[in-house]
Amino acid sequence: MQGIQHTTRPETVRTQEKLAIDYSTYDITVVGAGIIGLATALALARAHPSLRICVMEKESAVARHQSGHNSGVIHAGIYYQPGSLKAVLCVDGARRMVRYCEHHAIPHQRCGKVIVATGEHEVPALHELLRRGTANGVPGLRLISPRELHELEPHAVGIAALHSPATGIVDYAAVARSMMADLAALGVEIGFKHQVTDIQRQGTALRLFTRDAEIGTSHLINCAGLQADILADMAGADTDVRIVPFRGEYYFLKPERQSLVKALIYPVADPRLPFLGVHFTRTVHGEVEVGPNAVLALAREGYSHFTIRPRDVWNMVTYPGFPRLARRFWRTGLDEFSRSFSKDRFARSLQRLVPEVTPDDLMRGGAGVRAQAVARNGKLVDDFAIARSPRAIHVLNAPSPAATASLAIGEYIAKLTSEAFPESPSASRWRGLSARDWTSGHADHRN
Ligand SMILES: Cc1cc2nc3c(=O)[nH]c(=O)nc-3n(C[C@H](O)[C@H](O)[C@H](O)COP(=O)(O)OP(=O)(O)OC[C@H]3O[C@@H](n4cnc5c(N)ncnc54)[C@H](O)[C@@H]3O)c2cc1C
Repeated sequence: MQGIQHTTRPETVRTQEKLAIDYSTYDITVVGAGIIGLATALALARAHPSLRICVMEKESAVARHQSGHNSGVIHAGIYYQPGSLKAVLCVDGARRMVRYCEHHAIPHQRCGKVIVATGEHEVPALHELLRRGTANGVPGLRLISPRELHELEPHAVGIAALHSPATGIVDYAAVARSMMADLAALGVEIGFKHQVTDIQRQGTALRLFTRDAEIGTSHLINCAGLQADILADMAGADTDVRIVPFRGEYYFLKPERQSLVKALIYPVADPRLPFLGVHFTRTVHGEVEVGPNAVLALAREGYSHFTIRPRDVWNMVTYPGFPRLARRFWRTGLDEFSRSFSKDRFARSLQRLVPEVTPDDLMRGGAGVRAQAVARNGKLVDDFAIARSPRAIHVLNAPSPAATASLAIGEYIAKLTSEAFPESPSASRWRGLSARDWTSGHADHRN
């Protein structure tokens, strides 16, 4: 992140099992130690060094959910509607992420990626991606011929492709751990195993309750990912979106078949969906991951088929947007579900891009669950969505590429918060980018 100069890296980070039970202790409390909460706390601590800031996290470590279960791609900013928050914050965030990794010696690579059209029907969408990426300022993005594709990825097959040399890879859990160390050095307190279970307004402040603690805070930043809408409800925000969890399952290519993939190979994504389609990703750790699919999960933190949480299911199916969503996507949903149970079907999707892949080449990998906001009209909220309620800011939709964009999102939220702390240096940044609430943020649906 621009301007951060950390020279000391503490061996142990100052974290707390128990936060002080001291009403009005904190000026700003961030809920969630995923990469968005951490990046936001970092930007706030830089902008307001004199304020008391804390991060409350229900797990015992950072990045236990989306931020630690993703594809690890530093997206260049190709897919997103020009002018959207995703477009602006992804392009800026990718630059910041690379600088941050360089500064902190976090392994990352600018390996580049190809998006491959396998049939004529995908070519118009490929051209649209080129138009969007160019408008978004993605460096070096260009159409390449099948011959050039063969030079970059000898085992990939397609009739046309886009090449994005700026796309990279990193381990976002490593980035999150580094952010945690930065926060400790800046005096930000992180309370692990603190699940916020209730929020009450009292006078000009808020009270946050966990099972065994109660703290006061002047301002709250809700970065609770898969639980963000529940936290927003607790804070009395009138948001009217629901988080619907979509599990993404991965396989690994067996080590002896990893030579089939040099860097990142993507399909042309279904333009109706905010997911990018199963792809091949070489990770910074040297493996080749394939996936993720997008299966409706029956628990917000449901990393396997067998995790079902009745309260999450009830919360989802009783929301008016859900039946509308289901009506539009039931066929896609069934396809994803059956592919999730069949390695052969998974392999067939991959063979469209790399025909030599066989089911025997695949080993089961992990899974991640995307927090995807759905609006009352049943549309998948496409853009990042940030809402406000008195004394609180809620990050209600931060799916991919939010890990890439995290440092830019943090700065953006710090700017929003600066309106409450007008002496902030960050208030002068982001000229030309108006802070908007979720109602404009979710106006951009692809369908
Ligand atoms: C399968 C998959 C692949 C992806 N691939 C990419 C990619 O390649 N590139 C990219 O840029 N992005 C990718 N993403 C998206 C990216 O991972 C997320 O956008 C990002 O991690 C969101 O971060 P977050 O901090 O908002 O959420 P999270 O990481 O989920 O963090 C939220 C935190 O809040 C905590 N919390 C929740 N409720 C409470 C409570 N009541 N009290 C206290 N704490 C609470 C949780 O425990 C959690 O730690 C992918 C996501 C998935 C799932």
